This record gives sequence, structure tokens and C-alpha cells, in this order.
Amino acid sequence: MEVMTSDHQVRSVNEDQCQMCMPLGGVIAFKGIEETMVLIHGSQGCSTYMRLSNVEHYHEPVDIASTALNEKQTIHGGEANLRKALDNVIRVYNPSVIGILTTCLTETMGEDLDLMISAYKHDRNLQGVDIIPVPTPSYSASHTEGFWSATRRIIEHYARATAETSGINIIIPHISPADIREIKRIIDLFGIEYTLIPDYSMTMDRPFGGNYQKIPPGGTVPADIARMPGAQATIQFGLTCPEQLSPGEFLRRKYNVPLFSLPLPIGLKNTDRFISVLSELSGRPVPEVLLLERGWLLDGMADAHKYNAEGRPLIYGEPELVYALCTLCAENGATPLVVASGTKTGNLETLLSPILPDACEKTIFLEGTDFAAIDQAVEDQRVNVAVGHSGGRFLTERRGIPVLRIGFPIHDRIGGQRIRSAGYAGTLSFLDRFTNALLEMKYGSYRQHCLEETRGKGGY
Ligand code: SF4
Repeated sequence: MEVMTSDHQVRSVNEDQCQMCMPLGGVIAFKGIEETMVLIHGSQGCSTYMRLSNVEHYHEPVDIASTALNEKQTIHGGEANLRKALDNVIRVYNPSVIGILTTCLTETMGEDLDLMISAYKHDRNLQGVDIIPVPTPSYSASHTEGFWSATRRIIEHYARATAETSGINIIIPHISPADIREIKRIIDLFGIEYTLIPDYSMTMDRPFGGNYQKIPPGGTVPADIARMPGAQATIQFGLTCPEQLSPGEFLRRKYNVPLFSLPLPIGLKNTDRFISVLSELSGRPVPEVLLLERGWLLDGMADAHKYNAEGRPLIYGEPELVYALCTLCAENGATPLVVASGTKTGNLETLLSPILPDACEKTIFLEGTDFAAIDQAVEDQRVNVAVGHSGGRFLTERRGIPVLRIGFPIHDRIGGQRIRSAGYAGTLSFLDRFTNALLEMKYGSYRQHCLEETRGKGGY
């Protein structure tokens, strides 16, 4: 049962969660590594849920194996199932890497994965397959932390002290494959070598054609990850990433790789920061095409600003995306009035409070929250537009508030993997969608308002 307090904090169990489960985030990170298969150590239901969530969003075949524990193994331990599952995964998929993610069940059982894997490798004399276990107790965190944890563990597994290079590291949060491609296009324009991790831009969004492959081509190459300690710098889009989970922080502390912790390049100022760091690291001026795209964005902002002041947005979802979208809305005249995330560790209030413009009304921040609390805040703040994933679709059904789909999961629309919001061009696409949602609402209801007003004045 949930208890709501006057300050909108959820005091008891969550109702209609605004987050997904921790190993699910780890699955997506592993899907961004070349020749990798994922194994969930837990019950069948966990992996089925993760498969379904990914398939509904990415509309691709997403293979996830399971150790399929039942009541018996829950009591006696899951090692035999783990061994059998590893044998099967190696035989059927022939992967170079196996990422193993734990679940609520196996974390509660206290399974010692490191010990089991080491015994398995020894007994099978395993060669040519790297096994990387990541603890992902979902009762303690969300898919966001699962994503960061897995990414960091992968880097910890492969990184080796190496000769310095002129290349850079790019570490991304959970964003759409289209945004990964846009970030790569921008970096390519500066002609600088880079390793981007985790790169699921091809594995989770494949072009049509060719035969089905059990492990799709693409992903960050482990040999490149091994060389990350030699890079001249790391750019990590992870302002909201907790330090203990931060892959960039690991590279900085252990290998002295300078870290640029940046917001996602969504919005004018955020993209300016990314471009400026790329220019500094590459020693090259900003390419003409990016200057043109920046100019088009400024033009679009001038076109849209007169409408956006009527926006009273709710922005919710994964913290890194929420942060970037809030700054984008604010710099376009629509101050977010409710900012929400199911993740507890994003620190959004501390990060955003100083930079959101002084609105007449105070923004409500909800972290580690659920949709029951969000719904209450939406009513209190008279929100008229929502920006986030499909979890908020009830706002349209119940309150007539349009929901601009962005983030993960988007399971009631197609194309979630193709939503591009990064860079100047992506920002402009989002801004147009946002402003048009407000205009559609305005033109869809103004006759009704006029009618009600006239009636109120004694007409008709
Ligand atoms: S929350 Fe726990 S039990 Fe539920 S799917 Fe995730 S790991 Fe499995």
C-alpha cells in the first residue's frame, strides 16, 4: 500500500513504477559489446520480461538466456543450472563474451557467482570466451544503475595499462540507437579516433536484409576497450551517474585518463559544450556543417519561443535524459513544473535547481518515484504536456495531456529506437515536436474554451 505525503514523497511501496528492473539495464549495456550473449541468473520469468520489454521497444529479435531456476534450485543453489546454461549458450551461440546478470532471487539466495564461474572455467578448461558477471539486485536500484554497473564492469574487465594514443573514449548513458549514430556522426566530423561504449546502435537497430544471425554484428570491440586507458581523455555523458558506478571515474582514478563529464548533447547549450570539448581535444575548428545546423536550431528556437511559454511540462524517465530535456525546455521558455524519475540516484534536484529559470511556480522534483505520485503532482501543477516514455500514457487517457514519447520503454508506438534528439539537428526535431504538441492542444480546444466563456457571460 502506498502512502502519499503533502510533499509528494512516496513513503511506502511503489504503485505503477516509473522505472524498469536493474538487470534489464545491464542487458542493454552488454548488447553493445561485440559477439556477446547475455545470461540471466534467475527464474524464467525475469528473462522473459526483459526479452519482451526490449522486443517491444526495439522491434528486433533480442536473445537473452536464462538459468531457469525453480523452487528446487532456490533451496539447494543454482550452480548446476548455471553450468548447464553456460554449456548451452556456448554450444548454441558460440559467443566471445558472456555477460551474466543476477536477479532479485539469486541475490537474495546469496549465490557466489565469481566462485562458480572460476570453477566452471577451470573444469571446462575454457578458452576464447570471456565471462563477465555483474550483480544486479533489482530491489536496490533501477535499470539505469544496471546499465552503468554493467558498462563499468565491462571496462574494468578489459582495460589494461597501454601506450598513450591521441584517441578519446566516449561513454554513453542509455539512449536511442539513432542518438548513438548522431553522436558518432558529430565526432567523425572532427576526424578524431574514438572508442564508444556501449555501442548497440547496430545490434539493437538492424537494417533490413540478410539472414537472421543469432548474435547480430556490431558493438564495441573488446580489444578497443582494452586500450581505453591510453586515451587522451574520456567524454562521459553522465552528469547524473553516481561516482561509484561511473565508468569514466574508474578510468580517471585507475589510469589517470582525464574525464569530461558532460550532459547529453540535447539542447543548444549542452550540444555547444560537447562540440567545444571535441574542438579542444581534436585541435580543429567546428566544421561548417555543424555551424549550419546550429544556425537552423537558433532559427527554430526563434520560431517556437512565442508558443512555448504556454507549456507547463512534466518531464520524466531516466535521469540523464530528463536532465538534458529539462535544460532544453527551459532554454526555450517552457520551464518544467514536474521533474520525475523512478531512479533514486540521479540527484536531479541538486543539478537542475540552480539552472532552471525562476518560474512563478516552484518545480516539483520526484526521484525514486512512481506514477501515482507523478499523477498527483501533475494535477497540482496543472501540467499540460508530458515528455517521457510509454509509462505515462495514462495521462492522455485520464487527463487529456499529450505525451511526447522519448526514452525507454516505448511500447505503444513504433520507432522508439529511431527517435533522434541529440546534436543541433536532433534538438530541433524534438523542439518542433514539443511546440507542435502545444499547438495541437491549443487548436484542438480553443473553440470549446470560447464557447464556455461565451456561455459564462450569458450568451447562447
Ligand atoms: S525485478 Fe527482480 S524478479 Fe522482477 S524481473 Fe527484475 S530481477 Fe526478476
